[in-house]
Amino acid sequence: TRALGKVYAAGSEAEVVALCDVDMRIGRGEFVAIMGPSGSGKSTLMNLLGCLDTPSAGTYWCDGIDVASLDAEGRARLRLDKIGFVFQGFNLLPRMDALENVAMPMGYANVHREQRLKRAHEALEAVGLGNRQHHRPSEMSGGQQQRVAIARALINRPPILLADEPTGALDSKTGEEILALFKRLQQEDHTVVLITHDPDVAHHCDRIFTMRDGCLTEETRA
Ligand code: ATP
Ligand code: MG
Repeated sequence: TRALGKVYAAGSEAEVVALCDVDMRIGRGEFVAIMGPSGSGKSTLMNLLGCLDTPSAGTYWCDGIDVASLDAEGRARLRLDKIGFVFQGFNLLPRMDALENVAMPMGYANVHREQRLKRAHEALEAVGLGNRQHHRPSEMSGGQQQRVAIARALINRPPILLADEPTGALDSKTGEEILALFKRLQQEDHTVVLITHDPDVAHHCDRIFTMRDGCLTEETRA
């Protein structure tokens, strides 16, 4: 990214400058953490990296593509091909069970139904939820919902995984398993970016970016 900025509700009384002149470069196969206090702009930045939102200023290249040059359809395509996103609030569909939630993104990628359910089942096994396939989100604990969200983000095997507080609601054992899963992804040349409040989690990453009041204030090697 170069000088990436985001102003919410620009020009109105409710204007919030959430992000200001953020320069960062994340290489393929890197595993990085973004830290910083609540409200410092981490999720705002992540939403821009995930092409879920458009910046008010600055430029962002994803795999050599200038995202600003794409229309909404182009951005959706880029997201589908390259990016897995774990939302801070999970964003699972309440009426679908775990298996259907995980299988959902493959529908957009035109994977055959039988194949979709088989792969969704494997993905749930990989996050330790093979026995919760037919539970709806309301029938699962926070940590289990979080793991369903992670399985869903990974189902199309995206080269880039963006995860907003992916270990936040997990007990330490499950958190460690998820971290191990991310490390495995990195070894397979995936790029992993995660937001975390937990220094022990960040410690597993190659680099840590720290944010404060919408600015990137620090970059350290873990
Ligand atoms: P947390 O650790 O609590 O998740 P964060 O670092 O992810 O915090 P952001 O969600 O990026 O913080 O929010 C940065 C600032 O932008 C905050 O002041 C927030 O109130 C504001 N903000 C976030 N989303 C919006 C929005 N859609 N409209 C207006 N203001 C917003
Ligand atoms: Mg956030």
